[in-house]
Amino acid sequence: MEQEQKTGRSVAIVGAGQAGLLLGCALLERGYKVTMVTNRTAEEVWNGRVMSSQCMFDPALQIERDWGMNQWEAPCPDIEGLSVSIPAPDGSGNKAIHWASRLNAVAQSVDQRVKMPGWMAEFERRGGELIIENVGVPELERLAAAHELVLLAGGKGEIVNLFPRNEARSPIRQPMRQLALSYVTGMKRHDYHECVNFNLIPGVGEYFVFPALTTKGEKDTQACDIMVFEGVPGGPMDCWGDVKTPEEHLEKSLEVLKTFVPWEYERCRDVQLTDDNGRLAGRVTPMVRNAVLSLPSGRQVMGLGDAILVNDPITGQGSNNATKSAKHYFDAIVARGNQSFDSDWMTRTFDDLYNGYAEPVVRWTNSLLFPPPEHIVKLLGAAQQAPALAARIANGFNDPRDFKDFWFDAAATDRLIAQSMQAQAVA
Ligand SMILES: Cc1cc2nc3c(=O)[nH]c(=O)nc-3n(C[C@H](O)[C@H](O)[C@H](O)COP(=O)(O)OP(=O)(O)OC[C@H]3O[C@@H](n4cnc5c(N)ncnc54)[C@H](O)[C@@H]3O)c2cc1C
Repeated sequence: MEQEQKTGRSVAIVGAGQAGLLLGCALLERGYKVTMVTNRTAEEVWNGRVMSSQCMFDPALQIERDWGMNQWEAPCPDIEGLSVSIPAPDGSGNKAIHWASRLNAVAQSVDQRVKMPGWMAEFERRGGELIIENVGVPELERLAAAHELVLLAGGKGEIVNLFPRNEARSPIRQPMRQLALSYVTGMKRHDYHECVNFNLIPGVGEYFVFPALTTKGEKDTQACDIMVFEGVPGGPMDCWGDVKTPEEHLEKSLEVLKTFVPWEYERCRDVQLTDDNGRLAGRVTPMVRNAVLSLPSGRQVMGLGDAILVNDPITGQGSNNATKSAKHYFDAIVARGNQSFDSDWMTRTFDDLYNGYAEPVVRWTNSLLFPPPEHIVKLLGAAQQAPALAARIANGFNDPRDFKDFWFDAAATDRLIAQSMQAQAVA
């Protein structure tokens, strides 16, 4: 990409994560002056704990490609589809439901420990100023005095609590899952195409697993598989409290698989953690916050990414949302020309994103945190017989707005099932 003429406008971004770095690099390329302030060095990120499973679907990957930010596309394993399995209720260890469908285009997951250090270097290569500092209100004041726009993309950092929670857009008030991640090597492949393998275990939680690219030593990368555990609070998969060491973490991971999804355990007899930091346990409260923060001076800061739009990882949409948010903000900043980035513009920019994209994503993600209604159980079962239905569900992960036409409405779902079954019978 050729760097465009300087616009003379200056933007500060707090938080070198998926949203902040992507937007910062794109703005630099468009001729903006960008300062990035973040609280961890590239080395600390590379050598630290894993943060996410960061599976990204094609529309978000395309934004990275368009902005020349797809540095790991070749070495990263492709995820070609999505599978759903539900264990039989009789405890036999068999599957009651299983189907796998191809995505229209592949998904990929590049460990953020690989990606963010690489993007920090890219940000500096494009002429950005990178500052390592833990930002609080005084630092925000300083940045707001010196820049025309300050974006706070601090992810789940403490500082994002300064943005008020938007009550109307945040129906859930507490974490709905106990989360754990295990990054492993040595997993056996299954006998169908590479998938995000979703295992839905009624009353217990969810286990999903897919291939990814992670760190190897000081600067190399390697293929791995990421195990994601989503335990219903108080249930048998909410079991990470006493786990302290890497060895205990892997042992607990395998114990959960052996108990609830033995077909996944069979793939894992020889697995090892990728490294001592290839593990995580935590909880997330899904929340939408107001996009504008007024500082004591009266200056404003705008939120971006997880800072104001955080979902439970159950549908793997967070990095995808962060990327689509970066693109939406980029377009709005460029369209603003030389006019000021005032608080009306900030509110309108986020509302357009929320109403035009994020709202159905949040609603669909939140719906999966509750026991499924009868029509969704029927839908997942019917997808086993009707490949077109399975493909519709799988490809909904690319753009979950598709679900708003049926997922939340039993009659619409029943109609879709009937149409798909009929088409299947004719074919
Ligand atoms: C267990 C788990 C699994 C997930 N799996 C997926 C998945 O499969 N697919 C998917 O799309 N999403 C997934 N996500 C969500 C995804 O990781 C996030 O939505 C995404 O990283 C958000 O990007 P962001 O740029 O908003 O924040 P982040 O990427 O978190 O970046 C925030 C940055 O801000 C910095 N920061 C924080 N506080 C400060 C401060 N005070 N001063 C300076 N810097 C600060 C941090 O160090 C970090 O660099 C998962 C999340 C979790 C927890």
